[in-house]
Amino acid sequence: MVAPQARQHRSADALLGLLRRGFADLAEHRSGQPDISLPDALMAAFALFALKSPSLLAFDQERTEGNLQRVYGIERVPCDTAMREILEPVEPEFLRPLCTHVFRALQRGKGLEEMVFVEGHYLLALDGTGYFSSKQMHCASCLERHHRHGTITYSHQILGAALIHPDRREVMPLMPEPIVKQDGTEKNDCERHAAQRLITKLRQDHPHLKLIVTEDSLSSNAPHIQMLQDHPLHYILGVKEGDHAYWCKHVAAAEQAGRVTYYERNDSETGLRHRFRFVSAMPLNEAHAALRVNFLECWEEDGDQVQHCSWVTDLRVNKGTVYQIMRGGRARWRIENETFNTLKNQGYHFEHTYGHGYQHLSVVLAVLMRLAFCVDQVQQLCCPLFQAGWAKLGSKRRLWERMRVLFYDYVLDSMRHLFEALLYGWKKTAPILAVDSS
Ligand SMILES: [Zn+2]
Repeated sequence: MVAPQARQHRSADALLGLLRRGFADLAEHRSGQPDISLPDALMAAFALFALKSPSLLAFDQERTEGNLQRVYGIERVPCDTAMREILEPVEPEFLRPLCTHVFRALQRGKGLEEMVFVEGHYLLALDGTGYFSSKQMHCASCLERHHRHGTITYSHQILGAALIHPDRREVMPLMPEPIVKQDGTEKNDCERHAAQRLITKLRQDHPHLKLIVTEDSLSSNAPHIQMLQDHPLHYILGVKEGDHAYWCKHVAAAEQAGRVTYYERNDSETGLRHRFRFVSAMPLNEAHAALRVNFLECWEEDGDQVQHCSWVTDLRVNKGTVYQIMRGGRARWRIENETFNTLKNQGYHFEHTYGHGYQHLSVVLAVLMRLAFCVDQVQQLCCPLFQAGWAKLGSKRRLWERMRVLFYDYVLDSMRHLFEALLYGWKKTAPILAVDSS
């Protein structure tokens, strides 16, 4: 019997080793010789999310030190209170190198190649989401909404960034940008400012990555497009609902000048018919006439149902490219569906409060959860053992449940050991398996 072998760089154990070394490189913020090290506290929080424990208390009660030591390399596992105390002062931005390490490992292992969209370019989806809201619990990072009757709603949001592909369920998350109250200001942060910070830092982390940004219609404004161009990023952006009259007028004028192209395409496999209309070098709007964009519209016909969408892009639109550009624009929903819904509904407990703290804790935990999600996505993309285990159990929920049971009840050496137990049953694990070295 031969167990499927994951490529070295992207195996779960290799990634855990990478994270452990990355955590160990972070500066310790406490003086003296603390009982529990910062890398141990960070790795324990990561394990909490990797194992999808429903709460910190459950993790604390069920933890089996042996497995946490052997599989996650944690020397001393903190109790829930200690974990919160140690992580509270950690700046979320400190965790950025970890996200980059995982991404580079995937790049080195050639796993990222499967995500290429067109001509060496990746599709990058940006989307903000809220994950916490309360009228009582709050911290210094909370966004505040003051109501007329004097009460305040506190909340946290995060701007997610992920590489996506129209044909793949996996998404590859990059370091998110928390939408939080910024140091030294009383004003609330907003998604637009967060996008600016995210893109600036993204370019510092990945200066040469070829990217096409795909976003919803809130993003198709001149300052944002200018910023994308400055960093240099291509874009496919939804068109604002309120801008339709403007586009109708200008497309009609372009039509008179013979500049509009029509194109139709029937997909025999899906039975869908796509009708396109596009025109190049159009002024974005009256206020920013100098900013030229290519405009495309698509009518997708499925029997009697017709769905209409429109985008602006800097990619060259012609009969050879328009179908693919439309697919890129529509793939944006994957960040909502595959990222946020997975985090919220498939075992990650994204909206559960593991601890709020008074400054950074809530944000640090949200970033660590996304890091766990990122490692899982690498497994889903590249690890045949993980894929086989998931297929066998039929759903992510069952997969996590089974993994947790094995992790808490049996002695394990590694993640590979766990995946093998999952796939072949407990008695038929590692010792009798030959390793496929291909
Ligand atoms: Zn808060």
